[in-house]
Amino acid sequence: MTDSIISPPFDTQDSPAKIPVISIVGRPNVGKSTLFNRLIGKRRAITDPTPGVTRDLIPERWYLGNHPVTLVDSGGVKVEREGFDDLVANKSLSLLSQSDAILFMMECTAVTAEDEELLTALRPYSEKVLLVVNKVDGPKRDDLVWEYYQYGFQRVVGISATHGLGIEDLEDTLLGMLNMVSLDEAPEETERVKLAIMGKPNTGKSTLTNLLVGSDVSIVSEIAGTTRDVVMGTFSYKGSDFTVLDTAGIRRKSKVEEDVEYYSVNRAIKTIDEADVVLLMVDAIEGLSDQDKKIANLIVRRGKGIILVLNKIDLLTGIGNELQAIKDRIRFLFPILGFAPITSISALKGQDIGKLLDTVWGVWRQLNKRVDTSQLNEAIKEWGEAYQPPRGSMGHYKVYYGTQFSANPVKFLMFVNRIKDFPPIYIQYLKNCIRRDLGFTQIPIEVDLRERR
Ligand code: GDP
Ligand code: GDP
Repeated sequence: MTDSIISPPFDTQDSPAKIPVISIVGRPNVGKSTLFNRLIGKRRAITDPTPGVTRDLIPERWYLGNHPVTLVDSGGVKVEREGFDDLVANKSLSLLSQSDAILFMMECTAVTAEDEELLTALRPYSEKVLLVVNKVDGPKRDDLVWEYYQYGFQRVVGISATHGLGIEDLEDTLLGMLNMVSLDEAPEETERVKLAIMGKPNTGKSTLTNLLVGSDVSIVSEIAGTTRDVVMGTFSYKGSDFTVLDTAGIRRKSKVEEDVEYYSVNRAIKTIDEADVVLLMVDAIEGLSDQDKKIANLIVRRGKGIILVLNKIDLLTGIGNELQAIKDRIRFLFPILGFAPITSISALKGQDIGKLLDTVWGVWRQLNKRVDTSQLNEAIKEWGEAYQPPRGSMGHYKVYYGTQFSANPVKFLMFVNRIKDFPPIYIQYLKNCIRRDLGFTQIPIEVDLRERR
């Protein structure tokens, strides 16, 4: 089966060789034609509840974002391979090697032997597979999608082809897989590090902002009606672009107003949500306040990067290990930030700013790191051999496998035999292992459990 089965039947100004091929594969009746029609936007493939009604491979030009691609709806693959069905099945399978991305469709309501057979056939191509769980027609079926992470594919989306749900997620994921940039994202936005500088009044936020993005930007009078969620400025460091977000207290205004904003949780949450990395400015002499701890908690819970910045070190006496003593004290009083880097600077003197930005970059890299599912699962096996999950009243707990659910924030899903009373100490153990062995030492990570029987 070496002949190309996907010679485009349409005009191409662009060289056909460069146009990626995306195929839709799945057993009969999972909704391939319905999805195909929804994406193409016209009723080309025949949908019919009779299994296997789409008999042939139908290539069609489609635009993913504004990128031309070739979309192929494969015929239904049947298990009993005879005659015509056999031909369709073989064509479908040879389509796999010729595709740049494979939309492998399953249903959220049933998994059959035919699905399992296809899963096996798709294994060698798992790098380019997007598992599309169809017929997720409403929120009640959303939860079913989690189950499909068990098949070990890096990417899974839940959609409803008939209701048009989840189609944007599907397109975004595809854009990512094919290394294309989505239309509404400016290319530089994807690599920009978004920084928020937070902290108590008078810790030096404006001074640091001015130093980073140029003088006087922060002395901007409030213009009525302008949105407050604006970018303060941008700067480059060692070839990377950084954006400093406006946060309470950077723009000059009355200290009273600043205090009000500093203590507003909603305001803080909004800022944190927009940022990748938060610099929590602390006056080195004063140390962490209770409010700092609350904000730090929010940052950690949202999975954002956090760096404690001890400012005004020029005011330290320089006697003995004063700075180290301050750091030790913070570590002791606030173990939840055990992973967060602590750096010390003088914003006023411009001291150690490069070191701070190197730290920001390191944290950002970890936030955006992705671990291969197979690498993770090998590690899980080793961690389980080193330390078995404890016994519960209903026997041993087991971790079957896991997957990195997202980067920035970094989240992992672990599939276990029983969620009820799963020992928190073992989750902590897994988190520590992930940090230590997979390179997430400086950022918050989350581990969620899913039950699989
Ligand atoms: P194919 O054989 O894989 O091409 O599947 P079809 O696209 O022909 O769909 C098979 C059946 O499933 C049809 O009756 C569709 O209407 C139905 N179907 C497709 N997508 C959905 C969906 O998202 N939700 C529901 N409830 N039914 C769907
Ligand atoms: P903000 O309220 O957090 O924006 O703090 P500002 O940037 O307005 O700084 C408050 C005061 O601390 C100002 O008088 C600054 O000059 C001073 N300051 C800021 N950074 C430093 C520093 O590194 N060393 C010293 N000695 N003073 C600083």
